[in-house]
Amino acid sequence: MNTTSSFISPTVQDMPPSGIRQFFNAAEADDDVISLGVGEPDFVTPQCAIEACKRALEHGRTMYTPNEGLLELREAIAEYLHKGFQLEYEPSREVLVTVGGSEAIDLALRALISPGDEIIIPVPGYIAYAPLVQLNGGNVVELELSAEEGFKLTADELQKVITPRTKAIVVNFPTNPTGAVMTYEDWLPIARLAVSHNLVVISDEMYADLTYGRTHTSIASLPGMRERTIVISGFSKAFAMTGWRVGYLCGDRDLVSAMVKIHQYTALCAPIMGQIAAIECLRNGLGDRDAMKLAYDERRRMFVQGLSDIGLTCRDPQGAFYAFPSIAETGLGSQQFAERLLREAKVAVVPGHVFGAGGEGFIRCSYAASSARLTEALDRIDLWLRAHS
Ligand code: PLP
Repeated sequence: MNTTSSFISPTVQDMPPSGIRQFFNAAEADDDVISLGVGEPDFVTPQCAIEACKRALEHGRTMYTPNEGLLELREAIAEYLHKGFQLEYEPSREVLVTVGGSEAIDLALRALISPGDEIIIPVPGYIAYAPLVQLNGGNVVELELSAEEGFKLTADELQKVITPRTKAIVVNFPTNPTGAVMTYEDWLPIARLAVSHNLVVISDEMYADLTYGRTHTSIASLPGMRERTIVISGFSKAFAMTGWRVGYLCGDRDLVSAMVKIHQYTALCAPIMGQIAAIECLRNGLGDRDAMKLAYDERRRMFVQGLSDIGLTCRDPQGAFYAFPSIAETGLGSQQFAERLLREAKVAVVPGHVFGAGGEGFIRCSYAASSARLTEALDRIDLWLRAHS
């Protein structure tokens, strides 16, 4: 080890690089590659939000905002959550605007974890949770979700991994990467367990607006859950605002004020431009959001059907914008499948193993791409599979 790397903490040294970036970078470097790799809308942010931001900048609105975020935005978020998901939060003390949903996840973990606390992470799941738990001194306990259960969380499985050291569980429905959605009935036994074991639930609801033919239920809306749930969401996905870096978290005021305490030192505030754009999205961008959702739904149906036509079985993803087909029948491991598909067919997907145990044997394909690109990707995969078999 050379001198400078010996300066780096063992936790960071041991952290593997993101398994998604590898495929993203390869796709970026070659114009011929069709990328279904990155989890990013292919749409542009609603025009009304862009215009509102431009106007604000021209009027010199380039300063810090309050640590908690612009009150107007917190009010709009509280109203949005109330109307859409029956959640009640007081804008002045129970809503914190963050630098994307990513900062919100980190803040929640930082505020909760004491060294050695166990944090349950259902997998396959979003890749940032485990590294963030480790960075914050917690122990990751992976809970493998089963494909047969449609990658939903069940109380029986959860019960098995709860110990006296369990502090919290991170849930993410609709799920990146599987597209699974939980109903009120699915949540009920989970909520009972959380209450009886005094667990905190970090509920990453980044894709709450993107459900198809069913509604999103937040676990925070179940009896006894509001005070022990931190709801996290943001504008990146549903409003095509990944680059603006605006997310938020909501919860009981004591929890939120602990997170504000950290946020005021680490981020100070989320970018004002993004906050102004987000306000405009909630006021006048809902039609754009609905139009994008409709497009995802059409692509979803076409793409899942297309996968099955070429022999890759895929459960119906009910939310987010990912398909998670099985590649088990090809006899290839997911890393090998994805590397070869990229090299030989020029289609970038993400190997399922990067999402944790239970992800092996699957690949994640984002269908946030135009129908033409999706059709072309299916054709290329089909040809490649035939040549391979
Ligand atoms: N949570 C989930 C489940 C995600 O899929 C993502 C992005 O892919 C994030 C959080 C991060 O969102 P943001 O861009 O708002 O930081």
